[in-house]
Amino acid sequence: MGKVLYNQQFVERSKLIDIEDRGYQFGDGIYEVIGVYDGAFFLLDEHLQRLKRSAKEIQLSLPYELTELKEKLVELVSLNVLTDGVVYLQITRGEAERWHHFPHESVTPILIAYTKIEETLDEASKNGASAVLTEDIRWLRCDIKTLNLLPNVIAKQKAVENNAVEAILHRGDVITEASASNVFMVKDGKVFTHPANNYILNGITRQKVLELCDKLQITVQEEAFTIHDLLAADELFITATKLDIVPIIQVDNQPIGSEIPGETTKKIIQAFHSSLQALRIS
Ligand code: PMP
Repeated sequence: MGKVLYNQQFVERSKLIDIEDRGYQFGDGIYEVIGVYDGAFFLLDEHLQRLKRSAKEIQLSLPYELTELKEKLVELVSLNVLTDGVVYLQITRGEAERWHHFPHESVTPILIAYTKIEETLDEASKNGASAVLTEDIRWLRCDIKTLNLLPNVIAKQKAVENNAVEAILHRGDVITEASASNVFMVKDGKVFTHPANNYILNGITRQKVLELCDKLQITVQEEAFTIHDLLAADELFITATKLDIVPIIQVDNQPIGSEIPGETTKKIIQAFHSSLQALRIS
């Protein structure tokens, strides 16, 4: 199972969490999932910057500096000899007697990070996968990566029960994102994705894809689109850490485009793989 980073120490994984950890009782905390490929982190600084932002948005002070945290995470991957997988990192508002309001300032946040072996979905990435639609019932600060994931859990369960890889969320008629990934649509050669506002998590993979589209001279419109637009799309794909980019060829049993991964999606996937390859060489 490997070592766990607990505040500033590497410890054995055991019963580390107290009943009154605020993450456990209230979901009062934030997290990140960072991809590791061939023993190297992918976009680590970007993930840490997002962590810092999430902390600020929930008025949580990070227990230590990002530069120090970065060193510890590199050490954790090396200690656990992780080649392909993720580092899961969370910070909660600490352990305190159960009252809803923030605890006294003497209560310190608790940071935990551990490694998890995870393979990329090569088959789905190559051949495409299916998704289901479900109402987005989350709160109005989806831009913060908080531990409150119950609506996402329920949505993903619906996907699993329908042999789908993801549940695409819609707020009324508008597509926001998916239960654990961002959603992109291709129409007439243009790429569309929901703007990075309070309705979605601004995925690190999403940001990388936008950068790659720019390099590939593919026009992107960060604009909300509807269920109707989505079902009439030429191509559809989702992005997330370690899932990378997965073409969606069916939604609620209806075909999307020609029901095979499209040319624009394939171009973006190829560029994404080149970035990963560059990581291996550097
Ligand atoms: N949206 C949601 C709701 C997510 O949970 C995730 C995965 N963390 C993403 C988008 C994709 O984000 P990233 O590319 O940073 O993994």
